[in-house]
Amino acid sequence: MNSLDRFAADKLDELEGKLLRRRLHEDLRTDGIYVERKGKRLVSFSCNDYLGLSQDERVTRAAADAALSYGAGAGASRLVTGNHPLLRDLEAALARFKRTEAAIVFGAGYLANAGIAPCLVKAGDIVLIDELAHSCLWTGARLSGAEVIAFRHNDIAQLEELLRQERPKHRHALVLTDGVFSMGGDLAPLDRMVPLCEAYDAWLLTDDAHGLGVIGGGRGASHVFAGVAPPLQMGTLSKAAGSFGGYLCASAPVIDLIKTRARTFIYSTGLPPACAGAALKALEIIAGEPDLVAKPVALARRFSRALNLPEAQSAIVPVVLDSPERVLEAGAAMERAGFLVVPIRPPTVPAGQALLRFAFSALHTEAQIDAAAEAVREFLP
Ligand SMILES: *Cc1c(COP(=O)(O)O)cnc(C)c1O
Repeated sequence: MNSLDRFAADKLDELEGKLLRRRLHEDLRTDGIYVERKGKRLVSFSCNDYLGLSQDERVTRAAADAALSYGAGAGASRLVTGNHPLLRDLEAALARFKRTEAAIVFGAGYLANAGIAPCLVKAGDIVLIDELAHSCLWTGARLSGAEVIAFRHNDIAQLEELLRQERPKHRHALVLTDGVFSMGGDLAPLDRMVPLCEAYDAWLLTDDAHGLGVIGGGRGASHVFAGVAPPLQMGTLSKAAGSFGGYLCASAPVIDLIKTRARTFIYSTGLPPACAGAALKALEIIAGEPDLVAKPVALARRFSRALNLPEAQSAIVPVVLDSPERVLEAGAAMERAGFLVVPIRPPTVPAGQALLRFAFSALHTEAQIDAAAEAVREFLP
């Protein structure tokens, strides 16, 4: 074996030994909340398609129409020839819905976060980041070249302490957090973070990947607390919006700067027309159907109450278990009972932790929620 293959094989063995090797399964998602895996039809609690819009006929038809009108791919970066008219419409719709001056659409949420921070801060500046912030926020922070300091999860006192100590030593400060935390399902306390960051002239970016279409009347975590909008509202079109792509909503000068400078925007091909068409239709549905938008959180609360867990604040409810072994065992038992709940292990969660992450969809029935709660009850610590 050559050294490269030897390196890969040894690394895989090591991960296997720690129960941390990951494997792909083929999933057939053709029917709302159902996933067919290894020939078995399971009720899924592991999709982020919170409103079922990825398969909503209005959305899939919009995707098909866009592809037929404008082609399967954008053909180039948006600054070259890839800026088809649906992207203009989508950015206008996002800015209107999020009540900001402007918006920019990226090829994915990950690309958005990898690209934004490096446009705003560099060496000599500081980034303060919640320790549980999503991987792509960390990527952007590290790529920026600024000094990066993590604060304890949702610990506003520590954030304030860090701002007090570090802010005067740096030219610019950027604060990064998830709006809805992707594994814990809890919210960032933006009612306190927004004024705090303003007081220290620190720029706050919230990642609302799991907030759009679900909380704040569908407008996301930055619209849960009245009158405290963060200046940088990032999110994805890949979850509740049922399509694909990332976005940032902000003021016009900030968006113009990002469009001029973000490397993941400039040097990556424009979002395909089908994704833009689908996302536009999904935003229209999210804005127009508050009853649909309210369902995932209502079902999540039914589940958290049934198991005496802390009240759900979003469509995500974590069931934290003692060890990766226990989580794998519980995941397998859930699968035998007809439910798909993918076990989450490090490094997605901190070392030593493991959990079953339940994500609720507007398409789940109350009976399915109750049955899943019964099935997982015996594994609770
Ligand atoms: C999924 C996710 C992303 C990445 O978005 P994609 O559009 O899937 O690349 C970013 N941030 C958070 C918090 C996420 O959960």
